[in-house]
Amino acid sequence: MEVTLLGTGDTTGTPTVDCDCETCERAHDPGPELRERLRERGVDPSEGVERSRFSVYVRNEETGESLLVDASPDFRHQFLTQDVGLPDAAIVTHVHFDHLDGLGNAYRLFDDLPVYAADETDPVTGESVAEGIRSRYDYLDTVSVHPQTPHEPFTVAGLEVTLVPVEHPPLLCYGLRIEEPESGAVLSISGDTCYEIPDRSKAALSGADLALVEGIVHEEACEFHPKGGAHHDEDGVPRTFGTKHMTLPGARDFADDIDAESYRIVHTAHYVPADRAFADDIAVDGECFSL
Ligand SMILES: [Zn+2]
Ligand SMILES: [Zn+2]
Ligand SMILES: [Zn+2]
Repeated sequence: MEVTLLGTGDTTGTPTVDCDCETCERAHDPGPELRERLRERGVDPSEGVERSRFSVYVRNEETGESLLVDASPDFRHQFLTQDVGLPDAAIVTHVHFDHLDGLGNAYRLFDDLPVYAADETDPVTGESVAEGIRSRYDYLDTVSVHPQTPHEPFTVAGLEVTLVPVEHPPLLCYGLRIEEPESGAVLSISGDTCYEIPDRSKAALSGADLALVEGIVHEEACEFHPKGGAHHDEDGVPRTFGTKHMTLPGARDFADDIDAESYRIVHTAHYVPADRAFADDIAVDGECFSL
């Protein structure tokens, strides 16, 4: 299984439009030390470093098929920048803009793009993620929606995929377990979520070769959230920012809880101070992994 991180940022991305904060400035111009570390991570730093809106490309080397996890609004830029072909299918974790709105790119690029999503009715919206996609993209014949039941594995692009319920209030959202049956390689993706999720979900995400765990901000940022932080560790450090995302320490604990062989933090915002924003365990666009 080949995993390419197409988009590793939050909903505004880094750099953020019209922002001159130190983190965005560093993204535009990483400087010699960060450039060198990016090269060691296999990322070309010549145009700066980027965290565009979230998306992951998974290639099944056994069958040559590929799968897109989430349809980023940065779809076009990501596919022009990273060395990958168009996917055979897509999965959408939830209906927030930064994970869904790239589906409009299916127009004239695909004959058919099967999109897999959960079939549970969201009490807030009155529709499932699958129904939400169908209603928003009913004008695009190239998008076909395939509803799936969470916790029940299904096969797509020759990969065994399980939708795993996580906590991203007020919307229903899902993490993913993706297993390549020949090699047994496993990729786990937390999805957008707070730190505490049902035990069954943590078990389903456990034991991955690579885990992509969301961590949106540093822990001190909770002081500025109207709801503060939650799910504190024994030293009082908040692992959840507000109610629906993890802090960086929360993401690191989450990766540890699910016994991931390796991990990267994804969905990270430009609010993280520049001296911490480019730590080696926080993903940047273009990182590739062979599982
Ligand atoms: Zn900024
Ligand atoms: Zn979200
Ligand atoms: Zn998001």
